[in-house]
Amino acid sequence: MLRILVLGGTAEGRQLAEKLCVATEFEATYSLAGRLVRHGESCATGGNAMGTVRIGGFGGVPGLRHWVLDNEIAAIVDATHPFAARMSSHAAQVSRELDIPLLRLRRPAWIARPDDCWLRVPDLPGAATLLSDLGERIFLSIGRQGVAAFADNRHQWFLIRSIQPPDPPLPPRHEIIVERGPFECSAELDLLRKHRIDVLVTKDSGTPATAAKLTAARLRQIPVVMVDRPAEPDHGTAFTSLDAVCRELRRLREQFG
Ligand code: NAP
Repeated sequence: MLRILVLGGTAEGRQLAEKLCVATEFEATYSLAGRLVRHGESCATGGNAMGTVRIGGFGGVPGLRHWVLDNEIAAIVDATHPFAARMSSHAAQVSRELDIPLLRLRRPAWIARPDDCWLRVPDLPGAATLLSDLGERIFLSIGRQGVAAFADNRHQWFLIRSIQPPDPPLPPRHEIIVERGPFECSAELDLLRKHRIDVLVTKDSGTPATAAKLTAARLRQIPVVMVDRPAEPDHGTAFTSLDAVCRELRRLREQFG
């Protein structure tokens, strides 16, 4: 048995945990930060389609190191969201220190088509700065965290959509939609039309379930302010598919005997 820690928080992480759960050569623990725990992911341990699930932070690098040693983990899979930079950095540090393989599962970034109008920025403050010249009505689709970067903006109006209510502070002129994808293109077009949106701001998550807003923006010829992903840790091996991760885990299983 190869004991694996899967750091989740994405659809791919969940799918990997489900696959490993039925593979007899692995014993995987699926770990969630616990902010968006939903039905089916809410059990603390064992007995569901994802095998053993643990929920909550580890307590920084020392806590993760301790947990990995305590549970005799032989490989870590980082399947967190591309913007979950802190967890990824902690995983890289612990993997390096303990000399345990780290596999980073990342869905590919979105790619602009020639008829898209995307303006790439390095981070949310960069998006907030760029925004001032782009239009009156902004659709902010960046998740619950990070809206504070736009809080000082008194001149533009914001439609803020996230799975859970956004963290304050918020810009003074706004409307909130609490909703979880997947979203259909026709619904996204309606939303842009109904709220007379001039600009879309989003993070380059690459998530298929939320890509329809990009198609809708293209069809409405609305500019998209696209926040680039943070840099990946310079440790571990990157994979873009579930199958490739499983193949590598099998190879490690054979290597470790
Ligand atoms: P983060 O800034 O990288 O992580 C903050 C802290 O949350 C970490 O230091 C860790 O706490 C804990 N944590 C994060 N992921 C964890 C996991 N899989 N298992 C156990 N603890 C975890 O990440 P975040 O942006 O807060 O994201 C939290 C979770 O939401 C991640 O699992 C991520 O995949 C998911 N998510 C993030 C985004 C986004 O845009 N950032 C979007 C959708 C989903 P300790 O230091 O105490 O260990």
